[in-house]
Amino acid sequence: MTALPGSDQAKLENRSRVERDRNVPLTGPIVMKFGGTSVADPEAIMRVVGIIKGARDSSGLPPVVIVSAMSGVTDRLLELTASAELRRDAHVLNGVAELSRRHFDAIERLLPADIANDLLVEIGAQLDDLRSLLKATAILRAASPSAHDAIVCTGELINSRIVAAALQHNGIPSAWVDARRAIVTDAAHTSALPKPDETREAVGREITPKVAEGRVPVVGGFVGATSQGVTTTLGRGGSDYSAAIIGAALDSREIQIWTDVDGMLTADPRVVGSPRVVPYLSFGEASELAYFGAKVLHPSTILPAVDKDIPVRILNSRRAGGAGTTITAAPPTENRALAAVACKRHVTMVEITSTRMLMAHGFLRRVFEVFERYRTAVDVVTTSEVSVSVTVDDAARLDDIVGALREFAEVNVEGGLAILCAVGDNLRCDPRIAARVIGALEGFPVRMVSQAASRRNVTIVLRDEDVAKGMAQLHAEFFG
Ligand code: ASP
Ligand code: MG
Repeated sequence: MTALPGSDQAKLENRSRVERDRNVPLTGPIVMKFGGTSVADPEAIMRVVGIIKGARDSSGLPPVVIVSAMSGVTDRLLELTASAELRRDAHVLNGVAELSRRHFDAIERLLPADIANDLLVEIGAQLDDLRSLLKATAILRAASPSAHDAIVCTGELINSRIVAAALQHNGIPSAWVDARRAIVTDAAHTSALPKPDETREAVGREITPKVAEGRVPVVGGFVGATSQGVTTTLGRGGSDYSAAIIGAALDSREIQIWTDVDGMLTADPRVVGSPRVVPYLSFGEASELAYFGAKVLHPSTILPAVDKDIPVRILNSRRAGGAGTTITAAPPTENRALAAVACKRHVTMVEITSTRMLMAHGFLRRVFEVFERYRTAVDVVTTSEVSVSVTVDDAARLDDIVGALREFAEVNVEGGLAILCAVGDNLRCDPRIAARVIGALEGFPVRMVSQAASRRNVTIVLRDEDVAKGMAQLHAEFFG
């Protein structure tokens, strides 16, 4: 169960410890990435200025700053693109005017008139491009993938200029860096992949000299360009990816992801009373937890950092003194049994039984083909010699699925269930931990139990009505 593309996960699992421990000296500047809610308005941007002010590392290097668009801006740009395709011209014009106003207001509140004027000229040009692109989209009734990227990058390009100017005005020497000159990608528009060697060279040219001069480079996240200079974007949530790509290119000693939560928690606060912040998490553990909606970051976006063993810290920009959560390939985990517990509610179990399965091959393929045909993801899977049980959380196509399965097997469906998951790398080496997990849930009727070969988690399916109590007991056992 993982949010990672299979190949990424495999890459990580297969990496030998020797390779992981290879000694690339991590002496590059700290990368600080600020997400959309951390730079949403002038007050938030001023908090960020305060955080950056105190952030020189031990060797005196200033940090490299990556910023997202103001929260909601990327969604709005996507919506305007779709509206342009539908020729809702007035709506699109109003939308751009609203976006302009939001940014111009921020500039006016953050900066004195003379500085603001220069910035307004640059940002005005960016917004003119946006209008032209949306106009072209309306005429063509379609945005090509490259037009799409040229449109949605606007939020990051503008906001990074604003943050750079706010730093400078508040006494922190800074330099805006055009992300399109620093991150070199392939041409897979809307979800481009970085080219590490070319990016390293570009970062060495565009960012390193500024750091050496003592200036804070400010780069818009999410955006890159092909080697020919065509604008690309890295996929939703891509600013984390930008931070990892740039951190890896710089051999950064640390990457900080500043967001609006204190870090990854030992449990979902909506289910368990007072969870704690998890101080350390392995990359594998973070991947497992991401599936359960611990959406602090998408683990695959930090792979370039984890590959180099650069620690990635999650920190709260609204509450700067906290230690946050540090994610590394192999964190110190001696002192804990589990990293966290998590749950997913309202899932349905499908039990498929066939005596024909006994010693036959090809049965599982037939079963999973049905789920594939109806584009339904399967989460937990357990098998016995004559049955397979799976859970799905999207039951929209369930009737079709059950119908298709009944053509060759007996099928039993049970709704109203939940998945509980205990995650921790130490499950691999200490069998007593799994026993404690199961023991903590004594008394609750359990529907499925599964432990992966990686043994990083124990997953238990039980009745949804038992979740709150079950999670509380599990959490108390390990973190109480
Ligand atoms: N602004 C982009 C998005 O909303 C990228 C990011 O914030 O990470 O997806
Ligand atoms: Mg994000």
